Amino acid sequence: MSGFSTRAIHDGQPFEPRTGAVIPPIFMTSTFVQDGVGGLREGYEYSRSGNPSRDGLQTQLASLEGGRRAFTFGSGLAAEDALVRAVLKPGDHLLMGNDVYGGSHRLMNRIWAPWGIELSTVDVADLDAVRAAIRPTTRMLWVETPSNPLMTVSDIAALAAIGHEAGAVVVADNTFATPALQQPLSLGADVVVHSTTKYIGGHSDVVGGALVVGDDAELAEGIAFLQFAVGAINSPMDAWLTSRSLKTLDVRMERHSANAQRVAEALAGNPAVSQVFYPGLPDHPGHELAGRQMSRFGGMVSMRLAGGPQAALDLVRHTELFALAESLGGVESLICYPAEMTHASVKGTELAVPEDLLRLSVGLEDADDLIADLEGAFAAIG
Ligand SMILES: *Cc1c(COP(=O)(O)O)cnc(C)c1O
Repeated sequence: MSGFSTRAIHDGQPFEPRTGAVIPPIFMTSTFVQDGVGGLREGYEYSRSGNPSRDGLQTQLASLEGGRRAFTFGSGLAAEDALVRAVLKPGDHLLMGNDVYGGSHRLMNRIWAPWGIELSTVDVADLDAVRAAIRPTTRMLWVETPSNPLMTVSDIAALAAIGHEAGAVVVADNTFATPALQQPLSLGADVVVHSTTKYIGGHSDVVGGALVVGDDAELAEGIAFLQFAVGAINSPMDAWLTSRSLKTLDVRMERHSANAQRVAEALAGNPAVSQVFYPGLPDHPGHELAGRQMSRFGGMVSMRLAGGPQAALDLVRHTELFALAESLGGVESLICYPAEMTHASVKGTELAVPEDLLRLSVGLEDADDLIADLEGAFAAIG
């Protein structure tokens, strides 16, 4: 098998056969002409069931995650919703990490729990706690690593073994690491979830999601049917943008990781910062595990401020390159106050995040400029 970037650039992305256009066109069509009733060209009938732009992206993603099949959706949460429908039924137990993305928890807690899914959360970095939290009805174990926003690293291979022993489908949200840094299917996970809105899209211009399935053909069939029958698909334009972005994923992740390491080291030496969360720092509790499980440490850095919540709220008013916004993974750096932004939906729950916490999505600008921007903001708030 060829290397990661070669597959990213070529798998599912053939030259256009009629004209030789190097880039496959965007198939902006809702339907396809039939050569007589049922005479479908290459199986294409209607764009909810299949569209070449979406298929190209799905082929590319399956290849990069080392999965059999991939399915793309209109958002990360739409993908997650399809996965729950495919696997769980009322009375089944879903065990989730206790610092998963707030919207993932909201989907399960506010939408699926009222439909009869038993939901509980646990620290997935603590394997004994996970074993203790498994119930006879546990049918899905949901892991996000590194987690958002505290950058906790969990052992995917060990969790997959625990989940499988219990008869559960093991799900890994790989949004933060991307397949360029970590491939959960090769570590034993059954399904990978992505918000392709983030690093995979990479340019803050498209919302999307994906599921990538390993060897479980029946699960893949179930998801394929839901994608068609429920229809939470992404558009051809969005699929095309995401395919374009995947081609540069590896080089982007390399630079995101290098920049984040520099930023994290600078913050670790700053007395106004009480704690830095970055797996690339030697004193991070998941540093060693991340070194085994990931090829680089990624572009996300969180920090707690010695000056408390007010210092955090003040700092975000003084950065210039780090723009105050939700989301992450784009070429431009962003700063976010999780307690009131990305994690507002889990305020007051067991998933609530510290109020002196700031999360940085370290972009692809020059690291010196990013560090100067943060130092300037710290100087401004004294
Ligand atoms: C953003 C995000 C999601 C949800 O994806 P959307 O595309 O916003 O629906 C899920 N998981 C993680 C880790 C995320 O960062």
